[in-house]
Amino acid sequence: MSDRPRSPASAPLRRCVVCRQSAPKSELLRAVRGPDGSVSLSQSADGRGAYIHMRDACLTAAASEPKRLERSLRIQLPEALIAELQERTTQIASAIA
Ligand SMILES: [Zn+2]
Repeated sequence: MSDRPRSPASAPLRRCVVCRQSAPKSELLRAVRGPDGSVSLSQSADGRGAYIHMRDACLTAAASEPKRLERSLRIQLPEALIAELQERTTQIASAIA
C-alpha cells in the first residue's frame, strides 16, 4: 500500500491500433467485438475492444486499412462499421473547419 507520486491522476491509458500511441480512454474511440461476433463502436460494451484516436488521421487510417482493427479484434469488420468510421472522420473534419 504505497502511493506512487509519479501518476497522481491515473487515467487508464489505452493504445491506438493505428499509430500505437497511448492515450487516455476519453480521447479514444472504442470498437468492441460482442459475444455474438458483431462489432460496434461503444465506450462501455463488454467484449474484446480495440481503440482508435478520435482524430482525423487515425480514423481515416482505420477506415482505409481495416486490417489493423481486424487483427486486433480477430474478426472481419462489417462494411457498416467501416462506413461508421468514415462518418466519424467527416464529423471531426467538419468540426475543425
Ligand atoms: Zn492514433
